[in-house]
Amino acid sequence: MTVIRGATTITQDTPEEIRAVVAELLEQIVSRNALKRDEVLSIVFSSTSDIHSFYPAKAAREAGFASCSLFSAQEPEIDGGLALCIRVMVFVEKNIVPHHVYLRGARILRKDLAQKYNIAIDGPAGSGKSTVAKLLANDCHILYLDTGAMYRACALAAMRAGTDVSDEVQVCELMRDLSLSVVYRDGVQHTMLGDEDVSHLLRSPEVSMAASTISRHPSVRMKMVEKQREIAGKMSCVLDGRDIGTFVLPDADFKFFLTATPEVRARRRYEEMLAKGEQVDFETLKQEIAARDEQDSTRSLAPLKKADDAVLIDTSDMTVDQVLDTIKRKMQEKI
Ligand code: C5P
Repeated sequence: MTVIRGATTITQDTPEEIRAVVAELLEQIVSRNALKRDEVLSIVFSSTSDIHSFYPAKAAREAGFASCSLFSAQEPEIDGGLALCIRVMVFVEKNIVPHHVYLRGARILRKDLAQKYNIAIDGPAGSGKSTVAKLLANDCHILYLDTGAMYRACALAAMRAGTDVSDEVQVCELMRDLSLSVVYRDGVQHTMLGDEDVSHLLRSPEVSMAASTISRHPSVRMKMVEKQREIAGKMSCVLDGRDIGTFVLPDADFKFFLTATPEVRARRRYEEMLAKGEQVDFETLKQEIAARDEQDSTRSLAPLKKADDAVLIDTSDMTVDQVLDTIKRKMQEKI
């Protein structure tokens, strides 16, 4: 059994508006959770006292929830609660990871009831993990944490400071004063050095290689891992990287390891860069990826490695949608 929660606000207590808004809320709950209407066992509404509490249930019947039981009640006053708010709990028999739905400024009140979970997606460069991780996070309405961007920002800071990224002592010195943070605006990650948003400066081949080199140093890794654990500890998120399933979050709820042949991975990066209008030589890119693979897999602390309990997906011959579907199917199977 799964309970999916949701809420929405209305602007005035009229049957017409309640009908439209409840239909929208239920439609989103059904579609985001890939449900059929007849899989819903019952729906419980509670509305603030400024709403005629009978209408939401009536609206649900009219929206095609023909056979499930419906309850509609008035909720007690909640300190700091919203006005004109309708909350809902939708009960379904099957076990799924629920996607709760909050519309029109409504918020979750019982954060403790929202199931927090983390999804680890590891793999080498070009395996498709960041594309898939972003889509998956969007689909699950949770955060996407690109951990590679954090190592890239360290590398950029070192390059700007003239630090030799392979020199542990110099790097250690740099890390002491480094102010690196990750902030989210409209659900999109921005990687910051001090007050500067450096997100758009992190994808060049020079920064990629320097990130791989700098990430070998334990002083860098431990500082980044601490931040990653802090973010993942607070909220549900999809994290992609090299060591999420093995080291950052060995207890992650879902773990995946994506691979693809070196040729395919290099081709993807090449096309990605061409699409951005960047000049790049395919063979050079291929060598850079091979060099990074080698560095990332042979470092002593938290090397690139599949966790024993991660699901391996070879994406060489798969479309992005196929990879995403496979991940979602595996997640459902695990619940
Ligand atoms: O994933 P991305 O290509 O952006 O990562 C850049 C580099 O950062 C990788 O080559 C790897 O050396 C390092 N990295 C890491 N651990 C992570 C994520 C990235 O060591 N979790």
